[in-house]
Amino acid sequence: MSAPVLQPRSSAPAGAGRGTGAEVVIDAVSKSYSGTQVLNDVSLTVAAGEVVTLIGPSGSGKSTLLRTVNHLETVDSGSVTVGGEYIGYALRGGALHELPEREVLRRRTKVGLVFQHFNLFPHLTAVENIAIAPVSLKRLSQAEATERARALLARVGLEGHGDKFPRQLSGGQQQRVAIARALALEPEVLLFDEPTSALDPELVGEVLEVIREVAGDGTTLLIVTHEIGFAREVSDRIVFLDGGEIVEQGTPEQILSHPTQQRTRDFVSRVL
Ligand code: ADP
Ligand code: MG
Repeated sequence: MSAPVLQPRSSAPAGAGRGTGAEVVIDAVSKSYSGTQVLNDVSLTVAAGEVVTLIGPSGSGKSTLLRTVNHLETVDSGSVTVGGEYIGYALRGGALHELPEREVLRRRTKVGLVFQHFNLFPHLTAVENIAIAPVSLKRLSQAEATERARALLARVGLEGHGDKFPRQLSGGQQQRVAIARALALEPEVLLFDEPTSALDPELVGEVLEVIREVAGDGTTLLIVTHEIGFAREVSDRIVFLDGGEIVEQGTPEQILSHPTQQRTRDFVSRVL
């Protein structure tokens, strides 16, 4: 692994965002795409501050499940709450009703998402990428947001890179900017969907190091990853998904070393 990229926690810059996690309750969620069931009655509660990793074969529904947590995917039935609040819906007369877009956006900012492909704005610098949401949501002035963005860049080991555009940064650096951008809204929950899958192998370590650090700060984390060694080290719990269902879950030791289900055993033996 490359040299440490992070500041020690004790010297993290003021205002660089320390999380307070919220509980996530996924309750009996089902979802189909044109007749094909992608999630089948999935229930999963993630405690405030817990780090849960989703593993499973390609097409097992990991991304879809993750995306229901910030309402990038709607559900056909069941519900998702974050900190006790429905993200895309309101309960009225015993039924869930989709909220107006404005309210969905407000609630969604509690949940940050880091994608496989960074999705930075190419025409904005690193600092601008991080500062844009807090400013457009009127949380911070431009000056405050810029100062905070620089502190967040230091937190992810990118001090001095703030005025570069994404194309001037390596993939690992871009993904660290994307993590800083997610942290800028002080999310209670952070979702990572294969955050290192698009990176050259030598850049994976620096991104995992940043996620490892965020994992220790109290924010609730739901991570989809194929980095099994990392999952073992960072997770409080690992959830194995197959065919849109939770097959088995437990501590890393239980799932990776002593799985009880044949499907888990088969998957784990393929990826370890
Ligand atoms: P994973 O992340 O575990 O690879 P996904 O959640 O991306 O799985 O996908 C689960 C299944 O749902 C796959 O069969 C996939 O083809 C299908 N799927 C995902 N998104 C869509 C979509 N927008 N339209 C149709 N099918 C989809
Ligand atoms: Mg996926």
